[in-house]
This record gives sequence, structure tokens and C-alpha cells, in this order.
Amino acid sequence: MIKIDGSIGEGGGQILRTALGLSLVTGEPFTIENIRAKRSKPGLLRQHLTAVEAATKIGDAKVDGNVIGSQKLTFYPGEVTAGEYHFSVGTAGSATLVLQTILPALMIADSPSIIVIEGGTHNPFAPPVDFLKIVFAPILKQMGVDLEVTLHRHGFYPAGGGKIEAKIVPIKKLKPIFLLERGKLKGIKARSLFAQIPGNVAVREIAVAKKHFSLEDDQSEIFQAMDSQGPGNIFTVEVDSENIREMFVGFGELRKSAEAVAHEAIEQVKKYLQIDAPVGTYLADQLLIPFALAKGGEFKTTALTLHSLTNAEIIEKFMDVKINFVDLGNGQCHVSI
Ligand code: ATP
Repeated sequence: MIKIDGSIGEGGGQILRTALGLSLVTGEPFTIENIRAKRSKPGLLRQHLTAVEAATKIGDAKVDGNVIGSQKLTFYPGEVTAGEYHFSVGTAGSATLVLQTILPALMIADSPSIIVIEGGTHNPFAPPVDFLKIVFAPILKQMGVDLEVTLHRHGFYPAGGGKIEAKIVPIKKLKPIFLLERGKLKGIKARSLFAQIPGNVAVREIAVAKKHFSLEDDQSEIFQAMDSQGPGNIFTVEVDSENIREMFVGFGELRKSAEAVAHEAIEQVKKYLQIDAPVGTYLADQLLIPFALAKGGEFKTTALTLHSLTNAEIIEKFMDVKINFVDLGNGQCHVSI
């Protein structure tokens, strides 16, 4: 039985999600205390509870402590069965984070899966569904896994009500890859997505990006979501380079100006373009599990986050891998497994 203290490092929900995912992969039971101890509302929220439910269902697991607010959980995995599943967060909690919890086991399962998840699709502090489609899935493809993500309905915080579908064609063992250089910049694309707010918010966001990056008309896009249950806005900048496509996000919220939302993403892009590392900070922590499953590979990222270090510590508890972080001193970090 692996024992985990949920208050270490970042002390957030990722510790639980990684533990659930890798418990399914390895068949190792675990117990976790102090769940999300460093968050303002510690313990299991709806999103985490749905992740536990999803892991329990696909892994035929036994679980203790799976109630809202619980700060302790014990999880005994059974056998993972790929197939068709439907989960619902029931609030605006992130559907993409629920998917990422069960993805490791389904990426190396015996047969394909189709997973439908209802909840938030564009949440602050979580990968927007576009990030999974445009950035994460193409990298998994290089590692041998086919992940096709479809957005059926937009769901913004706080109304939620979104719906995503993921088709996963697994591979027995992921292939190690090397993401060490970004290569030549091929293009930048800015996109504003909004629902139930004045359209000039999107126009202003795009105007900021056009001016900043000197974009042509075909390098920007405005999309109004008509299917959303509530208001919402996100602004994304895609950076397409020879060896990787990255995406940076500004999240709209009440009383935050359109210009501030645009600059939130633009500042991240500026930092990213200043150095040659291909992998941004968010992608870095999300690549650790696939790289651990491949038992090899290397990447360079822009900066080391506590989130990545904490994730690595949990991965090493479940798997016989060593994740090495070397600070290269020029704003870059080399990660090898
Ligand atoms: P919780 O809020 O459930 O306690 P947590 O604290 O572990 O979870 P975060 O550290 O905020 O959550 O991050 C959750 C995940 O979402 C991370 O894997 C992170 O890379 C990803 N993420 C957050 N923001 C973005 C973004 N703008 N683009 C892509 N991925 C993101």
C-alpha cells in the first residue's frame, strides 16, 4: 500500500489525480491524507470526486473516503476495462482534468475506449479542451497513442454544462520521444471564444494580439459559442513551430478587461519565445506521466514549476523511473526520464 501525503509540494488536486491514474496503471493500492491541503477549499470537490468515480469505474476499484470534502481516501484498483463510459461532474468542475486522470490507464489498455465527460470545458487552472486537441494529443500521437478529442458543448465556469468526448486508441508501450528544440517559428494564431457576453470583448482581445504580433487577418479568429449554458470567454494564442505547437491562454472573468485577458496570454507567449525550449510550463507537468509510461525520453521546458516537481515525486512512488530535472541556467530546464 503506497502512502501519500497530499500536502507535499504544490499540495493540490494533481497529487490525487496522478495517484489515481498510476494506481490503475500499476495495480498498486494507495492511501492519501491531507488531500488538497494547500487549496483554499481543501478536500475533494466535485471534479476530484468525479475523477475518483471514473477511476473506480474503469478500474473496477474499491474505494473508501469518496465523499465531498473528504481529505482522506483509500483506493484499491482491480482490473482496467477499456470501453465506452460516460461521467458527469455535475458542476463546472473541469472535464479535461477528469479525462487526464483515467487517460494513462486507457492509453496502454488492451482495446480502444470512448469516454464522454460532462462538466467544464474551458476552466481557469485546467487545460482548456483546445489545449488537449491542439497541443497534447499531437505529442501523444508521436508516442504511439491516438487521442481524438471532440467538443460537443461548451462549458464555462461557473455555469458548466459542457460536454467532451475522447476516443483513445491505445498502444502497449508508449515510445520515448525527444523534444529538445522548438525549431523555426512557423506561425502565430490568436483566437477569442466567447458566449453570452458582448462581442466587442472578443474584438478588443484580437485587436491587442494583432497589434502586438503584427498578425494578418487570417491569423486571428473570433468564435461565438451558441450552445453554452452560461457566459464565458477565453483568449488563446497558438504558437506553431517546426517541432511543436504550443498554446497560451487568457481566461476572461467578470471585471477583468478584454485587454487584460489578451495580455495574460501574450505575456506567456513573449516569455516562451524569448528562449528556445519547446515545452511550456503547463505542458511540462502534463508530459511527465506519458514520458514515465514510455520509460524514457527528454524535453526542455521554459521553467521548472512546483507543480512538475510534485507530480514527479508522486510518479516515482508508483513507477520504477527516475525523473531528472537539470536547471540549464538560461531560463531553461532539461527533463529526462
Ligand atoms: P486542484 O485545483 O484540483 O486542486 P491543482 O491545484 O493540482 O488542482 P493546478 O496546479 O492548478 O491544479 O493545475 C491543474 C492542471 O491543469 C495542470 O496539469 C496544469 O498544467 C493544467 N493547466 C492549468 N492551466 C493551464 C493552461 N492555461 N493551459 C494548459 N494547461 C493548464
